Amino acid sequence: MTEYREEDFLNLSGIQHFAFCRRQWALIHIEQQWAENLRTVEGNIMHERAHDGELTEKRGDVLITRALPVFSRSLGVNGICDVVEFHQTPNGVRLAGWDGRYQPVPVEYKKGKPKEHQADELQICAQAMCLEDMLLCEIPFGYLYYGEPRRRTKVDFTPELREAVRKMAAEMHQHYARGYTPKSKPGKHCKACSLADLCLPKLCQNRSAKEYINRHLTEGEI
Ligand code: SF4
Repeated sequence: MTEYREEDFLNLSGIQHFAFCRRQWALIHIEQQWAENLRTVEGNIMHERAHDGELTEKRGDVLITRALPVFSRSLGVNGICDVVEFHQTPNGVRLAGWDGRYQPVPVEYKKGKPKEHQADELQICAQAMCLEDMLLCEIPFGYLYYGEPRRRTKVDFTPELREAVRKMAAEMHQHYARGYTPKSKPGKHCKACSLADLCLPKLCQNRSAKEYINRHLTEGEI
């Protein structure tokens, strides 16, 4: 099994970008482009709320940890979990500084509604896989909390979802090592993309930006 070095870790949150659009991921994580639209601003507010307050609190049998840094050497990613709940149970793992044993349950906050694509499920599954690597335990499920409706959706970390995360992380590392930015594949998802203006999907669909500029210079064509 591949074990990545810390200096080669990629951002865990990139999994959701990569699942949404590989080109968007490359623009953000390889070319370091970023643009805020209403959706990203709303998303940031949701995350700030999740990260508000004390970092750890206990409510009954549940320890609630916010903004927990996580990593996985096998996936080669690191990042921050919005919220990880640790439910007290005899079959759980021991945690430094706390009596008893606990089952970790990641909870990720998302703006808007549950989506048709699997980007959010893949991201929270990647978080769970990081926690499993760090705590040497199994995490069968987590939750996505959407702004609309304000309630949790359970996500089962199935073998298929885990395999999709592994494949995606490996593909991200291959693209990153090559510095490869895929060409655009315009679709209805582009309407929700914060990088639509930078990406210029229509321009890049059929030819490279260099070809486009050359043609413009020689033929006066746009
Ligand atoms: S505009 Fe469309 S093709 Fe371009 S990065 Fe965004 S989602 Fe991908």
